[in-house]
Amino acid sequence: MKIKVRRYHPHFEPPSIDMEYEVPKDLTLLESLEFIKKEKDRTLTFSSMCRSGVCGSCAVRVNGKEVLACEYRVQEGDYIEPLNFVDCIRDLVVDLSRPLEKLKSAKTYPLAMHAGMSEEEEKLIERQSDCILCNSCYSSCPVYETNFSFLGPFALSRTYRYVADSREEDKKDHIDAVVTDGIWDCILCGNCTEVCPQGIDPKNDILMLQSWAAKFGHTNPHMANFGSFGLEF
Ligand code: SF4
Ligand code: SF4
Repeated sequence: MKIKVRRYHPHFEPPSIDMEYEVPKDLTLLESLEFIKKEKDRTLTFSSMCRSGVCGSCAVRVNGKEVLACEYRVQEGDYIEPLNFVDCIRDLVVDLSRPLEKLKSAKTYPLAMHAGMSEEEEKLIERQSDCILCNSCYSSCPVYETNFSFLGPFALSRTYRYVADSREEDKKDHIDAVVTDGIWDCILCGNCTEVCPQGIDPKNDILMLQSWAAKFGHTNPHMANFGSFGLEF
């Protein structure tokens, strides 16, 4: 079967070009990329590590949707591209420093945590703790079309992990860190939830953060504008 890969090299002209390759049937995308590299074109560049959906390093887009290459089974005519909203280094390898910096801005670490947690309490934050930082949700988020400052789905999900953690005493500080370029800028489209290979639901976590923000006196600035329109009628 034939698949197309968007190739990128910063020193070529043009730097981006679509290349078509014939690959055997019934392979995962990662196996197909390895086949191309071994049998057809040794210059093809991509990332992979664990080969079993644990490390998140092989995330790419297929026909516009984010997948882990090691888990996705290739279909005839698939079009493979690197992740969105990040700088491409070479072919399917991207620079993830910009999205990963958001973890720091969103204060995704303990601030004032006491010891001890029940099994029930642990379950409440289990799912968010499973994030493998594959960046698929970041790549799928339409807010980045217009706002690169947006903290984004995985950073906000991780903030919620600390807000929902029964041991964390400084929840307000976590919330204060995500009101600007954060929870109110999400348009709740659900793309992030749809593409997450770990079954994490960043959209719901953002809704939960909005609810916590309201408890601490924050209001949605977009709703304030909407309200004033309403009054004119
Ligand atoms: S739900 Fe929000 S964070 Fe998730 S992709 Fe949509 S806009 Fe981005
Ligand atoms: S929340 Fe899911 S999609 Fe987003 S980085 Fe983590 S594992 Fe990947």
